[in-house]
Amino acid sequence: MQSPYENYLKVGGDGQPSRSGQKNADSSRPHRPTVVVLGAGFGGLWAARTLAEGPVDIILIDRHNYHTFFPLLYQVGAAELEPEEIAHPLRKIFWRRSNVHVHLGEVQDVDFSTKAVRVADQAIRYDYLVIALGSQPNFYGIPGVEDYAFTLKSLEQGVVLRNHILTCFERAACEVDPEIRRRWLTFTIVGGGPTGVEFAGALMELIRGSLAKDFPTLDFSQVRMLLLEASDHLLDGMPQVLSAYAQARLGKMGVEVHLQAPLVKITPHEGLLKDGTRVASGTVIWTAGVRGNITGEQWGLATNRRNQVEVLPTLQTPDHPEVYVVGDLAGIQQDGPPLPMVAQMGIQTGTAAGHNILRQLAGQSPLPFRYHDKGTLDVIGRNAAVASIWGRAFRGFLAWLIWVWVHIYNLIGFRNRLLVLINWAWAYLFSEYGVRLILPSTVSSGTEPTANKRSAKADDV
Ligand SMILES: Cc1cc2nc3c(=O)[nH]c(=O)nc-3n(C[C@H](O)[C@H](O)[C@H](O)COP(=O)(O)OP(=O)(O)OC[C@H]3O[C@@H](n4cnc5c(N)ncnc54)[C@H](O)[C@@H]3O)c2cc1C
Repeated sequence: MQSPYENYLKVGGDGQPSRSGQKNADSSRPHRPTVVVLGAGFGGLWAARTLAEGPVDIILIDRHNYHTFFPLLYQVGAAELEPEEIAHPLRKIFWRRSNVHVHLGEVQDVDFSTKAVRVADQAIRYDYLVIALGSQPNFYGIPGVEDYAFTLKSLEQGVVLRNHILTCFERAACEVDPEIRRRWLTFTIVGGGPTGVEFAGALMELIRGSLAKDFPTLDFSQVRMLLLEASDHLLDGMPQVLSAYAQARLGKMGVEVHLQAPLVKITPHEGLLKDGTRVASGTVIWTAGVRGNITGEQWGLATNRRNQVEVLPTLQTPDHPEVYVVGDLAGIQQDGPPLPMVAQMGIQTGTAAGHNILRQLAGQSPLPFRYHDKGTLDVIGRNAAVASIWGRAFRGFLAWLIWVWVHIYNLIGFRNRLLVLINWAWAYLFSEYGVRLILPSTVSSGTEPTANKRSAKADDV
């Protein structure tokens, strides 16, 4: 049986509908508008979920066949959780939605004049389009970062980082040269925002917990972890009291927090700071910034300094009322600085864009989007988190409980919630984190510690 959305596909990729690709090729089927959603992250998924309630066919396109819960990705990198525990198959999410069609593929570009999205050698036609392709790391042109630093922007990169960290300890355990051993055991995290802080805490817990038991012959006093931040405080945007708490707590855990310490260069074996300090390190993890994930000029869309697409208050693009941009990729300013690139923004803009398209179909005008800040939460380690909610600052155990509850509640899928909860309970009770497998075992097999992320490149976003 032919799937309804096959009517919108065409082999050739020039964006022109072919005879077989004509809308309503199956004349027995009443024409329903097609909404193509690019990206199944928070923005795209919530747009598709909202639209699924309406009289439309939805084609949801992503390069992965799953949705990733990014707020817990750093725990995959720190071997606390398995990748499948924070991902959910897209097709399963829409089991009961016959008007949502998942399309696995790499989006190349969009031809706005013919209303067609190019995916590999196919052109997929749309009546309405939601662009939710997220963000990518911003390296600010710093030499060596793109080549040598690890990033955390996809599940694959989380696994590559985990493999590399476990390999560092395996290599250090059988290294006779003390200088090389120290390099294997020095971890440099660049960026004192939420990801950098959370990853530093999680990695230290892994090292001081499970790895210290796994490697009884290693001298763990040689382990060094540096958290480099260019500004004078951690967790920008959080109340000062919470930044100070996070810094003190990380210090107590053994993380060296360096403020006003911008990194200016990375080579295979070391990082260079602006003040001339050299840090010999086999692992540099870049968490210092993100930018919109498409090339604005290439797509013919106006972008801002963060490479986000400039949108109208209704989230439509200025020149194409049928095209919406949501999530990290949307440059929205409301009463001050640009809105943050966070999951809630994706969820809220995706939902709003979905509603606006349904309004347009009903002959109504789209409504302006209004962001509701539900607060910010960051975890530092066991019993230690910070939370800024409704103008109030929480820290310590209470903030940690709120963090646990919010993350379990927001994970998609009952199975994932249960598995994560079991893993966390096990780690909490026995200080043992993850199963710590190096898979595949060929990653970072060199004898010298280099921040070699070659195997992560396949999935650079
Ligand atoms: C490590 C990490 C930790 C984070 N922690 C938090 C947190 O604690 N709290 C919080 O609120 N936010 C957090 N964020 C930010 C949050 O995840 C993002 O703001 C949110 O995911 C943005 O949603 P989005 O839909 O715009 O993009 P994404 O969720 O990134 O989704 C984009 C989708 O587009 C797909 N895609 C991209 N390019 C293509 C292409 N060319 N072809 C096909 N598919 C493509 C991707 O596969 C992806 O599924 C974190 C992000 C990261 C990376």
